[in-house]
Amino acid sequence: MADQSQSIVILGGGFGGLYTALRLSELNWPGDPPVITLVDHRDRFLFLPLLYELVTAELEAWEIAPAYEELLAETEVRFCQAQVEAIDLEAGRVRLGDGQDLPYQRLVLALGGTTPLDWAVGVADHALAFRTLEDAYRLKERLRLLLASTREKIRVVVVGGGYSGVELACKVADHLGDRGRVRLVERTDTLLRTSPEYNREAAQKVLSDLGIWVDLETSVAEVTADTISLTFRDQTDVLPADLVLWTVGTRVNQLVADLPVAHNDRQQVVVEPTLALPAYPQVYALGDLADCRDADGQQMSATAQVAIQQADFVGWNIWASLSDRPQLPFRYRHLGEMLSLGRDRATLTGLGLQLDGELAHIARRLTYLYRMPTLAHQVRVGLNWLIKPLQKAVMESQERGG
Ligand SMILES: Cc1cc2nc3c(=O)[nH]c(=O)nc-3n(C[C@H](O)[C@H](O)[C@H](O)COP(=O)(O)OP(=O)(O)OC[C@H]3O[C@@H](n4cnc5c(N)ncnc54)[C@H](O)[C@@H]3O)c2cc1C
Repeated sequence: MADQSQSIVILGGGFGGLYTALRLSELNWPGDPPVITLVDHRDRFLFLPLLYELVTAELEAWEIAPAYEELLAETEVRFCQAQVEAIDLEAGRVRLGDGQDLPYQRLVLALGGTTPLDWAVGVADHALAFRTLEDAYRLKERLRLLLASTREKIRVVVVGGGYSGVELACKVADHLGDRGRVRLVERTDTLLRTSPEYNREAAQKVLSDLGIWVDLETSVAEVTADTISLTFRDQTDVLPADLVLWTVGTRVNQLVADLPVAHNDRQQVVVEPTLALPAYPQVYALGDLADCRDADGQQMSATAQVAIQQADFVGWNIWASLSDRPQLPFRYRHLGEMLSLGRDRATLTGLGLQLDGELAHIARRLTYLYRMPTLAHQVRVGLNWLIKPLQKAVMESQERGG
């Protein structure tokens, strides 16, 4: 039976960690509920699939990055803003950057990953990653300065032909308009390799409509302050570039890579279908840092959709393990895939539906609204989305009148 002396510590407040905390806070605990602590080095959650919209000012920071304090206000979850410095699985405790030691009975590893910037010379010094709020602000400012300059053409190279690269290239091209010269560089021979055919074709059409140049089978040899060197079939060309955006790869946090547990060759932690670690059943891992096969043997990819569904199971399984109930193996249900393709366009495939264009854009926004954490935040953002166009229309009519 759970009691107050039991402590659940969740490391990382992204899709895996925050949604696990919210799930745990909803469950009915027999006896005193355990103390649930969520640790993150930032003060706000980040809804990554909508990060592009911050750069183009389609959405505001409070909408996609609400503060943990606000999201957890109606729950018993304690939020602790601190850097995780060390994890001692043998002693069952975590050391934080502010000197605190947190002992735990159950631990959740949900620290996500970072974008590796050491895959080619000069990337760390001259290219921008796109994963954090700070990255989005940095990109927004660089685009603002480039647009304010006297340059006739603004040359942007986006590296990586996966979801992030394609979505970012379309947003940036739309934002720069006629002055933009956007190039998308992909090492393999296909963009959006794992996407359904419908989404791939819709994306290819928009890339071509926006005049985005695509280099397939091309790798980056070097990035400097104003050039990028691209290698295609043993030939390297040096091209001028005003901005290089790096979207390739996810690297597991070093703390997690150093844990004395089973890892795959990408340093992800191998978990059981219950999402517990085989050698430490009181420790669970999910999201981008977990190498997980579900109950049907499907290998999970690093997506928010997977992390959100895993959070449901981690929450439940922790509750079950503290309440003498059987734990459930994770079962993944693929709900589909959505991509934003510029300001008002998107494509989606899922649940028997295929849509592109403006309708897909609206469906994507509504789906993400529904996926946002807590009903209170959904309502606040939803109302803002309803009111904003009305306010804009009133202001425009006043301007015309006056
Ligand atoms: C630009 C972009 C767009 C994306 N779009 C989509 C999409 O459209 N659909 C989709 O399904 N997936 C998308 N993804 C992937 C998805 O966002 C990730 O798979 C998901 O965020 C993984 O969840 P997570 O909990 O493992 O990690 P994260 O959500 O990254 O959370 C990790 C948390 O850990 C914290 N943290 C890290 N290190 C420390 C430390 N040492 N101490 C304390 N806290 C720490 C971080 O601040 C963060 O809050 C996108 C990813 C990116 C980068």
